This record gives sequence, structure tokens and C-alpha cells, in this order.
Amino acid sequence: MPTPIIDAVDIVKDYGANRALHGVSLQVGAGEFVALVGPSGCGKTTLLKILAGFEDPTDGGLKIQGKDMRGVPAAARPTRMVFQKLALFPHKSVADNIGFPLKLQKVDAPTVKERVRAMLDLMHLKPEYLDRFPAQLSGGEQQRVALARALVSQPSVLLLDEPMSALDAKLKKSLQAELKKLHREIGTSFVLVTHDLEEAMMLADRICVMRGGNVVQIGTPTDIYYRPANMFVAGFIGETNFLPVDVARKGDAATVSSPLVEGQPTDMPADHISPDLTDKGPALLVRPETIRFVTGDPEPGLWVLNGMVDEFFIKGSSTQYRIRVSGLDAPLVMDLPGSIVLPAEVGQAVRVAFDPSRAFLLSE
Ligand code: ATP
Repeated sequence: MPTPIIDAVDIVKDYGANRALHGVSLQVGAGEFVALVGPSGCGKTTLLKILAGFEDPTDGGLKIQGKDMRGVPAAARPTRMVFQKLALFPHKSVADNIGFPLKLQKVDAPTVKERVRAMLDLMHLKPEYLDRFPAQLSGGEQQRVALARALVSQPSVLLLDEPMSALDAKLKKSLQAELKKLHREIGTSFVLVTHDLEEAMMLADRICVMRGGNVVQIGTPTDIYYRPANMFVAGFIGETNFLPVDVARKGDAATVSSPLVEGQPTDMPADHISPDLTDKGPALLVRPETIRFVTGDPEPGLWVLNGMVDEFFIKGSSTQYRIRVSGLDAPLVMDLPGSIVLPAEVGQAVRVAFDPSRAFLLSE
């Protein structure tokens, strides 16, 4: 990465005896969109507040735009933060809310007016909203005003703490699309904390998965989905099947086999093996959309499992089957595109197959 905008190294944060961050490092590039995800209490908001300057780290270093942030107050940083709970001033108009940061900076009135109008356009808010008060706007519109206020002073980094979690599903979808477009247009770096993994996948260039105050993995959405570091990350994003396997390591590569399947031991290429692989419960991660029913002879190289349809769900654009396979603790989950053709019924014996070399080898 060229010089990162944010360079956080080994950040530790203690709240009394409770260590919220155990040495977290995160670099964010210019114009990059990074999402922080992880279970409740893993330290996402704490990290964001440290970047913003609302909390001081107990230890570790933080540079933003190459400048040491120690002792630099929030208002003097090139960052702005948008909170989950709206922090709009209820007694100020939309125009005064958006223009507030500029007034603090003593920007002259005509420039404030011009910049506020420009933000209104950028956020697709109608000009007649300028004189309204926050209570006279919908939740989505209020959130856009909050975004406009955060962006009006043209920060280098926008920090977003679950900005869409209070919105209904439909509004959320449209604001997500707008946020992505906005990010592309303005070139500001975004760091988004979210519980919504689909949102992280949709929006972020890279996803940082945290657990218990540590970073478990940082990678592109594709990396996190198809090449997760371990079962925790795999299970965190999307549905999973874990097929226990025997592993024979051969340098960077490995050969895997399983007594549960019909099929030959398979060589796994090095890029289909987690760098964090240990001896603890090695398994193949087989995503539901990579499994198919087989009738007749399977193609060479595939692994075949015999099972019974336990349940199926029509999801609209796809149909999900849960297949009981003897020797597997959980039913195998498979997703087939389409909802019209149902090639199986509950209780029916079926054969399903997948390509093991396209799966991913990981461990607990
Ligand atoms: P959530 O997804 O639920 O918002 P999070 O990942 O953002 O969680 P944080 O809010 O960063 O987690 O909290 C991390 C840990 O630090 C938790 O154990 C939390 O209880 C603790 N913590 C956070 N803020 C404070 C505080 N001001 N004083 C004491 N402990 C705190």
C-alpha cells in the first residue's frame, strides 16, 4: 500500500482492568473503504473512537496523514465521525446543522451557504429541506443530513459507527447504495463499523474481522468469504459447511482425504490453504453454492456424498437444501439457483458433489 492515511500500530486500550484492545494494527489507504466487523464487544467502536480522538489509546502508535496523533484533539484531526444514534442538533435547521462545523472554523457566511448547498445536492436532499428541523425529516433523511455535516469540512477520513442500523431494510439498502456511490465520488477514506456482514461485503474494499480485542483477519470481501483465516471468520460471513479431512502437508501444498466421501485424495493448491492452518480440527470449507446434485456418474475429481434431504427452503432467487449425511454433525447446506425446479423432496435419498480443489482448507 502507498503511504497509508491511517497507520495504527499495536493499539492497546484498557478500561480499568478490562483490556478492550490487545494490540491492534490497521492501515487504511487514501480513498479506501474499510469495514470493521466482529461480535458485540470485540472492540470495533473503541478502535473507531481512538482513530477519531474521542478516546486515547493506553499504548501503541497512531499516525494520520503521516502525523503523530498523540495529544491531537478530535476537532483538530482530519477525521469526522457519524454515530449510530443521530447527533443532530434538534433546535437547529438542516442548513445550520450542516454548516455548523464550518462556522466553528470561522468560514465566512457566503462560503458556508455555498458549501451547505453543495452537500445537500451530494446527499440528494431537496433544497426546501434547508429550513426544516431534524424532527421534520424521515430517519433516512436525518442520516443523510448527519453525513452531510460530517463531510462538509472535507475530512480525509470519515468514520462511520453503524450509521444505518436504525433504518428499515428498504431504506438501508438504498442508503447503502448511495454511500458506496458517494465514496467513489468524493475519494475520502471511509472506516465503517457494522454488524451487517452483507453490508460490509457490499461496501468495503477490505474487511477487518475482529474478535476479543484482536484483529483475526484483514482482507478483501472475496478473501474473507473464500479464503477465511479460520472457522470463526468463515462462520461469521455467509453460510458454511465444514467437512473434516485428513491432511498430509507437502511443503506449502497439502493432500486431503475424507472417509465420508466417494472420491480420491486431492491435492490442495497453496492458495486454497489458510496460512493459519493448525492440526486442530482441519476441515474443508465448502460454500453452499458450490455443491450440486449428481445423477449418474460424477465428473472425475469431484467428491460425492450420499445423504437424505432433511429440509428445503425456497428463498426466491435460490432454493436451499439441507442434506443429512451420516458422519457429519450438521446437515450439509446447499444453495441452488432458481426456485422453480425442485429436483428433490424431504426424505429422498440424494447424491451431492463438489470440487474439493475449489474448497478451502482451514482449521479451528
Ligand atoms: P458492539 O458491536 O456491541 O457495539 P464493539 O465491538 O463496538 O461492540 P466496544 O464498544 O468497542 O465493542 O467495546 C469493547 C469492550 O470495551 C467491551 O468489553 C466494552 O464493555 C468495553 N468498553 C467500551 N467502552 C467502555 C467504557 N467507556 N468504559 C469501560 N468499558 C468500556
